Amino acid sequence: MKLILLGPPAAGKGTQAERIAEKYALAHISTGDMLRAEIASETELGLQAKAFIDDGSLVPDEMICAMVKSRIAQDDCKNGFLLDGFPRTTAQAEALAEMIDTDIVIDIDCEPEILVARVAKRMVCPECKHTQIVNEGENPVCAKCGAELYRRPDDNPDAMRHRLAVYYESTFPLIQYYKQRGLLAAINGGQGFDEVTRDIFAVIDGVMTLKNS
Ligand code: ADP
Repeated sequence: MKLILLGPPAAGKGTQAERIAEKYALAHISTGDMLRAEIASETELGLQAKAFIDDGSLVPDEMICAMVKSRIAQDDCKNGFLLDGFPRTTAQAEALAEMIDTDIVIDIDCEPEILVARVAKRMVCPECKHTQIVNEGENPVCAKCGAELYRRPDDNPDAMRHRLAVYYESTFPLIQYYKQRGLLAAINGGQGFDEVTRDIFAVIDGVMTLKNS
């Protein structure tokens, strides 16, 4: 099973990806997490990517495509994987089509107002990468592993506005791209996280049944 999760920033891709990867035993490939790990380890790639990420711009296609290509060649991807945050441009989608045959593209659709409100409250675990909404007065502690949460530098209002603009300009056209190829399933991301998960599992179960028949 090779699956792509599409959707605007803060639509819940990371949260849903964790749940999908666990239920279907797929490798979870988050290009955002991979880039943040490169930055933390101060690698050449991380140093080059940091400025793009911090202001909410896209990292150049060649850098990302090379990173994904070597990642999906790893052993844990043999039984299938889930791409979260890639592809984000038509050039990336075309590069990916040269690498693999995708089974399904799940688009988590969500209104910009909901996204802006969510991003103001979300925090991330530096240890296990879990993303969590932290309301005012709550302790910023990871519900999964207990580590202290941090706010991503690109989760500020200016960078978020820019990320949304970049999404509508560069990534949104991929919905049409995958629709034309008969691969798109749209999910209402404005529901609660559990309802979104339920709808996604129903889509994946349907694809599995078709694949196994
Ligand atoms: P979000 O939670 O906003 O969806 P991610 O964690 O997926 O964000 O990505 C954070 C940042 O990393 C992006 O704003 C971008 O700068 C960079 N990035 C991640 N994936 C890609 C990609 N496929 N192409 C270009 N840049 C990327």
